[in-house]
Amino acid sequence: MSDGEVDMKIDPARAKALSSQLQAVSERIGKLAAGRKVRLVAVSKLKPASDILALYQETQHVHFGENYAQELMEKAAVLPREIRWHFIGGLQSNKCKPLTSTIPNLFVVSSVDSQKKATQLDKGRAELHSSQPSNSSLVLGPLNIHIQINTSGEESKSGVTPGTEATELARHILKSCPHLNLLGLMTIGAIARSKAVKEGEENEDFICLKDERDRLEKELSDELKGKKLELSMGMSDDFEGAIEMGSDEVRVGTTIFGERPPKQDFKVKGQAEASKS
Ligand SMILES: *Cc1c(COP(=O)(O)O)cnc(C)c1O
Repeated sequence: MSDGEVDMKIDPARAKALSSQLQAVSERIGKLAAGRKVRLVAVSKLKPASDILALYQETQHVHFGENYAQELMEKAAVLPREIRWHFIGGLQSNKCKPLTSTIPNLFVVSSVDSQKKATQLDKGRAELHSSQPSNSSLVLGPLNIHIQINTSGEESKSGVTPGTEATELARHILKSCPHLNLLGLMTIGAIARSKAVKEGEENEDFICLKDERDRLEKELSDELKGKKLELSMGMSDDFEGAIEMGSDEVRVGTTIFGERPPKQDFKVKGQAEASKS
C-alpha cells in the first residue's frame, strides 16, 4: 500500500453512523457560529483509516486531525490526496522534517512550541517544494502553523508561555521561515477546568488565548502587515462555548468517532477495531 492506492473495507452501517455524527456536529457549529466561518477538524487519532475514508466519501469532509507522527504518515500514504491533514499532537524536533517533507497535503501543524521546531518544519516544506516538478498541478503554498499556547500554566501541558516566549516564536516564523504561514494560535487548556465551567461562565483558557491573539496582533502589526490570526480552541466537551468565545476552529474527536481504543491496540488498517462499529 505504499503507492497511495486506497483499498479498504468500509462497513456501510459504520459509514452512516459516522456521517450522521459529523453532520450533527456541523449543524451545531453552524448555529453557534451565526454567520462566521468556523472550521471543523474531525480528530481521527487512533481510529482506522477506513473511518476517515468513509467520512470523506459520504460527506466530502476533508479536515482531519492526527496526534502521532507515525500514524499520520501511514494514513496519509493510503488515503486520498484531497484530505487536508492537521497535525495536532506533541511534536518532536526529529519528526518535523519527515512529517513535512513526505506529506504534501499536510494543511497545518497546530502544536508548534519552539523556534527549533519551526525551523525544521520550514526546512521540510522547502524540501517538499524542491522535490515537486515546477509544472506540477499540485501547487503547494507555505505550510500553515498554529503556535500552541500553554494557557493553563500547568507544567505537564506543552505549548509556549503567553508573553515574550510567544512573541519571539511568532516573530521567528514571520521573519525567518519563508515556507511557513502563521495562521494563528491553539490551546488545549485544562480539561478539568473546562468541565468545571458552569452555565454562563467563560472558560479561562479561551479568554487567555483570545487575549494573547489580540496582544500579538498589536505587537507584531508591522510583521503581520494587516493579517489576522485565528483561534483554534474547543474539543468534544467544550466546542460550543469555544465558538461563543470567538473560536475559528474546533477539533472534535470523540463526539464524531466514539471512544478511542488504547494506543497499544491501534492499527492503521483497523483490525483491532474490526469487531466494533
Ligand atoms: C484528541 C484531541 C482532540 C479531540 O478530543 P475529543 O475530546 O475526543 O474531541 C482535540 N485536540 C487535541 C490537541 C487532541 O489531542
